[in-house]
Amino acid sequence: MAGCCGTKDQVVARAQDGGPLEHFAGQVQNCLAYARLRKSQGAPVVGIMCEFTPRELIMAAGGVPVCLCGGSAEMVEPAERVLPANLCPLIKSTFGYSLEKANPFLEMASLVVAETTCDGKKKMYELLGQRHPMYVLELPQKSRDADAFEHWVAELRKLRKELEARFAVEITDEKLKEAVVVMNRDRRLKRELAGLMQSACPPLTGRELLGMRSLIAGLPQDHEQYSKAAAWLAGREIKPAAGKRVRVLLTGVPLPHGAERVLGLIEDNGGLVVCQESCSGEKPVLEDIDIDAPDLLRALAAKYFHLPCSVMTPNDRRLERLEALAGEYRAECVIEVVWRTCLTYDIEAQAVKALAEDKLRMPYLKIETDYSPSDNARLSLRVQSLFETVKGRQGCNHG
Ligand code: SF4
Ligand code: SF4
Repeated sequence: MAGCCGTKDQVVARAQDGGPLEHFAGQVQNCLAYARLRKSQGAPVVGIMCEFTPRELIMAAGGVPVCLCGGSAEMVEPAERVLPANLCPLIKSTFGYSLEKANPFLEMASLVVAETTCDGKKKMYELLGQRHPMYVLELPQKSRDADAFEHWVAELRKLRKELEARFAVEITDEKLKEAVVVMNRDRRLKRELAGLMQSACPPLTGRELLGMRSLIAGLPQDHEQYSKAAAWLAGREIKPAAGKRVRVLLTGVPLPHGAERVLGLIEDNGGLVVCQESCSGEKPVLEDIDIDAPDLLRALAAKYFHLPCSVMTPNDRRLERLEALAGEYRAECVIEVVWRTCLTYDIEAQAVKALAEDKLRMPYLKIETDYSPSDNARLSLRVQSLFETVKGRQGCNHG
């Protein structure tokens, strides 16, 4: 069997170049510098809260879309002075950043674009709207309903007009096309990077892969890093060796920057997260926009309307994709993360469990938690127990 180590030339090349991992370690500062520069040049910084927001429209309006989802446990307590404690930590942390004025991107944002997804977010936006300029898209949630899709198209046309009026620009089809080209490239590069995890000997951990994201998508310097990532990572070995770890398909809620704890915990206990299906992983990048479509805004609307989020009903696309991803990434088990009080993902977990156990014949574990590390020990035990089950099955299969 070929070794996993790089050639001497590759190792020398890596020693001279910090490579993509080092580049993305500084992503927050890189994004901050970029946003400040663009703002000083007159470009509006626009906060987004969810993967349903089409970044392309904001970019075509000359704006800089920045993800504002809060991942800090420290921001939860300030938020609980206003919001109910019994609320998803992602919502609380995002709002806590506003109360504490601790997110420089939010503070410099000329506008925040959000949408009606889950109830907690929707109602938090009303409070956020008292503190920052907000625009809320109405997301229709019947995924198979033609009228619902037409409503979504109309909502995006309204957003287009809103951005044009607010920023005194015209969003021409040409500008929209340019933005779609950038974001299609962004999605393709991220898919290629994630695809490296399909190998029997992946060159990076799931934690490292998750770290190779920026709060601002589509940055030229990030694209340059993604382009050279495969060559740079060729032959790289992770420790402990990939072959000794349990291959995990991770699904459920997104893990925003700062909230990577559960993924780290899975990998510290002998797992290797080979596929991340959530919104902080592959979910938003699996479908592109047809650049040659006669009505580009409609094509844009279709891509986003297809996003298999648990707020949509029914959400069978998620199950179809999970099944395909489990095969492509040769997963050995499924772990689902649900932020405490996230009703939509929690209820949908039943269908994911049934898919994993009954159809894919794989062990499944649901982890319901929040941003506090207080349950680390308990979760570690549950993860270890899952991995024992996987290894027990491997033993049976090989016996
Ligand atoms: S999981 Fe759903 S609500 Fe959350 S960011 Fe993704 S699309 Fe938006
Ligand atoms: S994780 Fe669930 S409750 Fe939290 S913001 Fe996303 S959909 Fe809403």
